[in-house]
Amino acid sequence: MAVQKFIFVIAALLIFAAEFGLAADARADLSGAKEPYPIVENHTADTIDSTLVDLLFFEVAEILEISVNKEFPPPRVIIISFEDLQEIYQKSKALKPGFRAFGLYLPKNNYAILITSFDRLTLGHEFAHYFTHLYLKEPREKWEGIAEKVERELTSRPWSKRR
Ligand SMILES: [Zn+2]
Repeated sequence: MAVQKFIFVIAALLIFAAEFGLAADARADLSGAKEPYPIVENHTADTIDSTLVDLLFFEVAEILEISVNKEFPPPRVIIISFEDLQEIYQKSKALKPGFRAFGLYLPKNNYAILITSFDRLTLGHEFAHYFTHLYLKEPREKWEGIAEKVERELTSRPWSKRR
């Protein structure tokens, strides 16, 4: 029930963001800006170790040579079911017909990152989008290339096998 309500809110936000673009950005809630750490919201039955999320966040920042700044709003890492992610993906502007989403970055929804479980490469990819967008202010066409570079770097690190 709570998840359905949550999905409805996200869907409403997405439609709002799609229609009003920058206006939605201006509505971003900056109340979490005091802490640079990602805000983790888990809507699944699985346990998520937020320490691993934090470590990965700073690791991706380091790869991109960014020093995390608490003046920027932190990302919200939201863990939902695979089915719910597909439902949101179907409504998003990022939709590529025939594709399935493993992670989504929704900059206009308080920098939300949607994932279905903790996976270094998927979450690292989405963190790269967050930094590329908010810190580096790179145009959208550069986002995937940068995220793929981050994924390659994460893969090459010995402790990446630990997840
Ligand atoms: Zn991507």
